[in-house]
Parts: sequence; C-alpha cells; structure tokens
Amino acid sequence: MSRSVLVTGGNRGIGLAIARAYLEQGDKVAFTYRSGEPPKELVDAGALGVRCDITDSQQVDAAYKEIEEKHGNVEVLVANAGVTKDQLLMRMSEEDFTSVLDTNLTGTFRVVKRANRGMLRAKKGRVVLISSVVGLLGSAGQANYAASKAGLVGFARSLARELGSRNITFNVVAPGFVDTDMTQALTDEQRKGIVSQVPLGRYAQVEEIAGVVKFLTSDDAAYITGAVIPVDGGLGM
Ligand code: NAD
Repeated sequence: MSRSVLVTGGNRGIGLAIARAYLEQGDKVAFTYRSGEPPKELVDAGALGVRCDITDSQQVDAAYKEIEEKHGNVEVLVANAGVTKDQLLMRMSEEDFTSVLDTNLTGTFRVVKRANRGMLRAKKGRVVLISSVVGLLGSAGQANYAASKAGLVGFARSLARELGSRNITFNVVAPGFVDTDMTQALTDEQRKGIVSQVPLGRYAQVEEIAGVVKFLTSDDAAYITGAVIPVDGGLGM
C-alpha cells in the first residue's frame, strides 16, 4: 500500500538515501530542502520537492499545505534535517549554540507539530527522528550539536507517551559516523581516529541508516515506540 511520506532535508546525504528507499517501495515521497535545486534523480522518480527552512514555522506550514494538497495526509514523517556548528565551549558564541538548537531541535518540533494534525485525524502516524550517537555519548567541540540531538530523545519519548493511544509512534535513529557532506570537513587523521574506535572498523553507508528508518515505519515495527536505535557500528556500546 502506497503511503504519503515526508523526509526533511531529503535532497542529499542520509535524507536522500531515505527518500530513495521509500520511492523504491512505491510510496508517495515528498522531501524538503533548504536551498539549491532538488536532485533530478528524486524529481524524475516522481518525488515532490518543496523548498522549506525548518527554522521558519510559516515555511513549514506552507510546505505541509502543498504536500497535503498533492499527496494527501502525511502518514510517515522522517525528521532528518540537521546542522553542525562545531566550536570549543569558550569560543562558542550564543548564536552558534542557539542556531543549532533552532534547526535540530526546535525545527524538528515545528515539523512534528504540524505533521501531528493530520496524524491525529487519521488516527495513525509513524515518526522517526534522526539523532546521533553524539547526542548519547557527547563529543568535544560539539556541545551545541550534542545537546540538540540528546534533546530529540526526550522529545520523542515524551511524544511516544503522549500519543501512543492515538496510534502514533515516535522512534529515534542515532547514526554513528556516516559518509556524507557533514563528515567531509573532518581531516584524514580525524577520520582514522574515529574509525579506530568503531568495532565494525568503518563509516556507515547512507543506505544502512535508511534501511533502519524504513523498518521503524513498517508494519513489522508497529509495536515499537519510544525506541532509540543506534546505527553506529558499535561505537556507542
Ligand atoms: P547533510 O549536511 O548532507 O544534510 C543535512 C540536510 O539538512 C540537508 O538536506 C539540508 O538541506 C537540511 N537542513 C539543514 N538545515 C536546514 C534548515 N534550517 N531547514 C531545512 N533543512 C535544513 O548531512 P547528513 O549527514 O545527511 O545528515 C542528515 C542528518 O543525520 C542530520 O540530522 C545529522 O545531524 C544526522 N547525522 C549525521 C551523521 C553523519 O555522520 N553524517 C551522523 C549522525 C547523525
């Protein structure tokens, strides 16, 4: 059965792989992107790309209106959009801190709150939030990012409790290090250092994150809510 799926930040990296995975199983896929052009690959495959900055609730609302008009009620939401602005604490400005929180945590709140309207009406919804192993373990130079990603865990678990009786599930996927633009900024030495601590001895491929997300929104996972699933090659155990 084809469902209406929305992936935020679906234009590249992990989000692109997630959008691709839902398209492959025949779902109606919409994705948001903050800037640039939507990837031709997704548009050619029939996905609906909507430009939307999740730090602006009016843009979130407008994006939802367009998606609902074209694809109907969103049944599956993958809140994937996120940013980093790494800095050691003493050099981290208040803006470095609040802007990361505003995208990763409050931005996710904006999208989830808007999605919930339709999910409550439909008495069904599947929500997956993309956190990070950094939110669970912490990371020097990433206090803003780690706080935002840890915040997503409390957010999801609270909503799992609040909305379980309405048949809406909230789960969190916490990737380890994945080969995307976000990790390109790391030096070779930093990459080697990270990989040496990963029991599986490598970075994740984006498809390995997408597969777990897809499972968590499938009927096989109907009884899973409030779960935090690390997909980190064993880094966080
Ligand atoms: P990426 O930088 O390639 O993609 C980030 C996406 O977020 C982009 O599509 C971008 O358009 C979108 N985005 C950023 N700010 C936005 C805003 N204000 N409004 C709307 N969209 C916005 O990074 P990625 O590696 O694909 O990361 C995807 C998610 O996975 C992020 O939440 C990230 O924190 C998380 N994650 C990544 C890794 C990794 O190693 N790459 C590890 C753990 C978690």
